[in-house]
Amino acid sequence: MAAPKQMPWVIPEYCEGCTACIAACPRQALAMRAHREDEQIPWLDDPDVCTGCGKCADACGLGGIAMTQFVEEARQRFLGIQHACV
Ligand code: SF4
Ligand code: SF4
Repeated sequence: MAAPKQMPWVIPEYCEGCTACIAACPRQALAMRAHREDEQIPWLDDPDVCTGCGKCADACGLGGIAMTQFVEEARQRFLGIQHACV
């Protein structure tokens, strides 16, 4: 059985919003999205577009992107937290 695809998960505490990861993605899979009041972070809108190549993570010099096979679970938690904060 093939290993699950790894996809990027942004660690907001490390991200400075430089957008280098977005520029590095050959699939245009990432876009900036509001995270906190005046803060934006890269976000993977459609996981099906992502090939899991890891170029976005490699492009970040701050360790702001972790490649993980659990990105869907992380997204649900993130969206749940956002919803709970509204
Ligand atoms: S390259 Fe790193 S610091 Fe820059 S926007 Fe992407 S995750 Fe954030
Ligand atoms: S892993 Fe590759 S395809 Fe997926 S968002 Fe990063 S650079 Fe784009």
